[in-house]
Amino acid sequence: MKLYDIAVVGAGPAGMMAAIRAGQLDKNVIIIEKNDILGKKLKITGSSRCNITNTASFDIFMEKFGKRGSFFRSAFSTFSSKRLMTFFKAKGLKFKIEDNGRVFPVTDKSRSVIKVLKEYLSENKVIRNYNTRLINIKNKKEYFSLDLGNDNYVATRSIILATGGVSYKATGSTGDGLDIAQKMGHSIKPLKPGLVPLKLSDTWVKELQGISLENIQIKIKYGKKNIISNNGNLIFTHFGISGPLVLDYSNQIISILEKNESMQFFIDLKPEMTIQELEEKLIKEFEIRRKSEFKNFMKFLLPNRMIPVFIELLGMNAKKKVNQIEKEERNSIINLLKAFPLTIIDSMGVNKAMITCGGISRSEINPQTLESKLIKNLYFAGEIIEGCASSGGYNLQQAFSTGYLAGEAAAKQIIE
Ligand SMILES: Cc1cc2nc3c(=O)[nH]c(=O)nc-3n(C[C@H](O)[C@H](O)[C@H](O)COP(=O)(O)OP(=O)(O)OC[C@H]3O[C@@H](n4cnc5c(N)ncnc54)[C@H](O)[C@@H]3O)c2cc1C
Repeated sequence: MKLYDIAVVGAGPAGMMAAIRAGQLDKNVIIIEKNDILGKKLKITGSSRCNITNTASFDIFMEKFGKRGSFFRSAFSTFSSKRLMTFFKAKGLKFKIEDNGRVFPVTDKSRSVIKVLKEYLSENKVIRNYNTRLINIKNKKEYFSLDLGNDNYVATRSIILATGGVSYKATGSTGDGLDIAQKMGHSIKPLKPGLVPLKLSDTWVKELQGISLENIQIKIKYGKKNIISNNGNLIFTHFGISGPLVLDYSNQIISILEKNESMQFFIDLKPEMTIQELEEKLIKEFEIRRKSEFKNFMKFLLPNRMIPVFIELLGMNAKKKVNQIEKEERNSIINLLKAFPLTIIDSMGVNKAMITCGGISRSEINPQTLESKLIKNLYFAGEIIEGCASSGGYNLQQAFSTGYLAGEAAAKQIIE
């Protein structure tokens, strides 16, 4: 049986980068992928445009991964966002920067990112094994034996497990690596959904399906605390809400729900105006459009399909002429525009989440090398490692940085 230096399991961004780096350091590397293509999830990232990284500072990158985000210090410093861009630019792929420092390939196509990775894999003579699923690992002390099913075994000195989390299972991330690592003695931190749409109990939500609200703000009240979001976009779906703003706050919202704290959730539909400014505007507009019916008047403030729900919540007569609207009613309109209530009951679950928070416990991994503290020559890279960030390119950078570090560390560990 041929003995490989390094077997990388999973050909997502983390696994591909790990294999490339180990190959660059002259190791003989095999990458094992159960799909018939590389980077199936990478292909759909950023709506197939691939928000590959972010221009944020090194400290922000660590902050994005929460309380113990400094675990990724070595990975992010070894392969930073700048190095990542240089790596792709060397093969002719250029980047552009969009809002909040989000970096995308100029082609607007994730395919071009995958094309470069394939070029590097070929250049560095990485053996690619598609349609092959790792079933089990046996630690034979001198080497590992990988059971690939149908009496197919691969022997390797080191393994890098880069099988991802458990979100969007159809892309191949079904949690196999987590199960295998657990059997080998690793503990798994709870696999929670991150960047996930939220379910509402409000029955009228179906009537709002498809409405996209731009530049709104989210306000959350729980216990004695308040969260006020930045301005952003929200989309109503047939079950609840989604969109960048919702996905970014979903992790915090899930934590509040899990603690069974009573939570009030509101949308500020006019965050650019204070209550007083909104009042002045309404008084002025009521005067200009004095003969309009209330439901027609609202068209200048809200998307058409949202108006019936808005008026029903107010309990007002839709046909009332605006010059007959009383001060008390005007105040209710302003209050509802500034705090439109939604009742969140749950998330859509980990499979519908863009990222899995949780995974192999970071306390069992050496952050300098990403080698298991329990099993020598076993490494981890990417989403399989506990921890997740908000949207903005941070999660893909984590996959590439940890892949690079694990590939380099595993290669350097092998003494010829
Ligand atoms: C819809 C969507 C959009 C996203 N957009 C962005 C974005 O724009 N920017 C961003 O930063 N992040 C984004 N993410 C998150 C990003 O995709 C992940 O962080 C990233 O893919 C994780 O990379 P990974 O290599 O660790 O795992 P994965 O990409 O999940 O790759 C793991 C691979 O392992 C393979 N595998 C699993 N088990 C086995 C086995 N037993 N044997 C062999 N192979 C196996 C799988 O088939 C898969 O190919 C998005 C996620 C989703 C779902």
